[in-house]
Amino acid sequence: MGNPFHRLCTLFLLLSATATALGQALPELRLTPGLSEQSLTAYTGYYHDASGDEGLDAAIRGLGAGRYQPLPNGKTSLGFQRGAFWFHARLRNEVRDEPRWLLVQQYALSDELDVYLRYPDGYVEHQAGGDHHPFDNRSVRYRHPNFRLDLPLGQPVDLFVRVRSQSSMQVPLTLYTPRAFTEQSRDAQLAMGVYYGILLALFAYNLVLWLSLRDASYFWYLFHISAFGLVLLSLYGLGFEYLWSRSSWLADRSIPISICLAQVAMQQFARHFLGVRERWRNGDFVSISVIALFAALGLASTAIPIRPATELSVLAVFISVAWIAVETIVVLRRGYKPAWLFLLAWSVLLLGIAMVAMVAFGVLPKNFLTEYSVQIGSALEMLLLSIALSYRYASLRNENERIVRQAKQHLQQQVEIRTAELRAALDDLETAHARLSEYSRHDGLTGLYNRAHFREAFESLLAKAGEERTPIALLMIDLDHFKSINDHYGHLAGDDCLRWAAQTMGSVLQPHGALLARFGGEEFIAALPGMDLGEAYAVAEELRRAVRERPCLCGGSIIEISASIGVHAVDVAARNGIDPALQIADQALYEAKSQGRDCVRVL
Ligand code: GH3
Ligand code: MG
Ligand code: MG
Repeated sequence: MGNPFHRLCTLFLLLSATATALGQALPELRLTPGLSEQSLTAYTGYYHDASGDEGLDAAIRGLGAGRYQPLPNGKTSLGFQRGAFWFHARLRNEVRDEPRWLLVQQYALSDELDVYLRYPDGYVEHQAGGDHHPFDNRSVRYRHPNFRLDLPLGQPVDLFVRVRSQSSMQVPLTLYTPRAFTEQSRDAQLAMGVYYGILLALFAYNLVLWLSLRDASYFWYLFHISAFGLVLLSLYGLGFEYLWSRSSWLADRSIPISICLAQVAMQQFARHFLGVRERWRNGDFVSISVIALFAALGLASTAIPIRPATELSVLAVFISVAWIAVETIVVLRRGYKPAWLFLLAWSVLLLGIAMVAMVAFGVLPKNFLTEYSVQIGSALEMLLLSIALSYRYASLRNENERIVRQAKQHLQQQVEIRTAELRAALDDLETAHARLSEYSRHDGLTGLYNRAHFREAFESLLAKAGEERTPIALLMIDLDHFKSINDHYGHLAGDDCLRWAAQTMGSVLQPHGALLARFGGEEFIAALPGMDLGEAYAVAEELRRAVRERPCLCGGSIIEISASIGVHAVDVAARNGIDPALQIADQALYEAKSQGRDCVRVL
């Protein structure tokens, strides 16, 4: 079977065998002991009644006239045909224990089958079947049409079968003993049961996922699995057996309708799963067109003649399959990873379908694997698609988590930047505030503390002296005849003199830990913590002398400056506060002024 040369030889032999068989009577089928199952293919002759009007008499006459030809190349499939086909085989039952056999048409979709058994005495028995007859009329309630044949021992019986069908003309007729039929149908039903069991389990699993995740891909997956299951139910006659056994209309139409539904769902599933709209905008338009084509065809299948509907839908499947392969590869090339699994699933299904085709062309032998390859392929496909859905969901979730993580990091960075900016602004503000409060505590001209700060600072010095029981003295200093300095040298020179005086007094007082401030105008005040009246007097004298004796250079000339100082040792224990102390110091200053200036007086 393997190499093409061998196949060609086989084909040639078959053709020549067919040529010699033409016009010759086909061999009689002898049912011998030990035989329990026999295909009629090699023993069947056929002719085409294009009008479809001929009856049994014409068929019997045709036998004598040599109208029957062997099935072409031994194939039981004759394609889509009009009119009726007559088939004939001569049977001789030589098994004593098996007077009754079952004739099974192993193709579920034939519309009308008329089976005639013509006995040697001329008696004819007629049975009718096919999916245009109620399912309950079948000899055995089974997905394939079947007929009970009573075959008398040792006598030749002519079997005539007339087939009319809108679906493809197929006659895989097989004879079974009742026991053999029961056994093979049991195995086949088990295989079908396992297949639909897998489909149902996948359906239930993904239904739960769809209900909880609400992802459109799951919906289309469920739709696809149902519609595909329906296609196979129809193809294998199980739909007619279990779902629409009274409707020959559905028995015919279920094939194109379910094919169209399955393709609509498959295309929609592919669009959603692969994200075609986002990844390949033009491709998405083609997908939508293919979907529209199948939707229109599905609708039309309910009305137009069944043959073109079936032929068109089968043809369109090829377009659909090719298109899905194209879009999967394009999306894959654009870097969408889950498309790999999708491609794998799709290939497994195509492989299953291809295996059936290869069996039909004789490339592969018929065994369990090849016979059920569509079921195996589609079950695997749906399993892989289900895995692909979970994989896609997981990668979507990971992507989402990555985006959230990035957004968080970005946010954190932004917060850090803003916090740093805020901190810098706060620092600036603090510095400005510190500078401002420093300004507010100082006198602008001399740079000494001002009166307000002195009051504050002196209050706390007083409190501290009260607590520590240490003395504290006050010096009130006023420059003498300053008005005349201003008058004589000018106001600006006066300012220079004020600065000079502040500096001079500062240099004298600093070693004594004094607090010096400008009290206003040309008046200054100093607090001497820890000093009693005597010590304070000494410092005041030193101060007066420094002002008097240190030269004040201003505008090229030396200006003579003197100061009068009032000294007061504050009564710390009295806790009278600052104002009485200032008043007394002021009085002492007044004394100094009135007693000739440039002197120190105490009070
Ligand atoms: P006395 O010896 O009695 O203190 O006489 P005085 O002229 O110093 O006293 P008075 O109170 O009559 O005058 C103070 C003068 O000090 C008046 C004002 O022109 C001058 N003065 C006050 N503040 C400033 C200042 O900031 N700059 C200058 N250049 N002069 C000032
Ligand atoms: Mg004054
Ligand atoms: Mg003065």
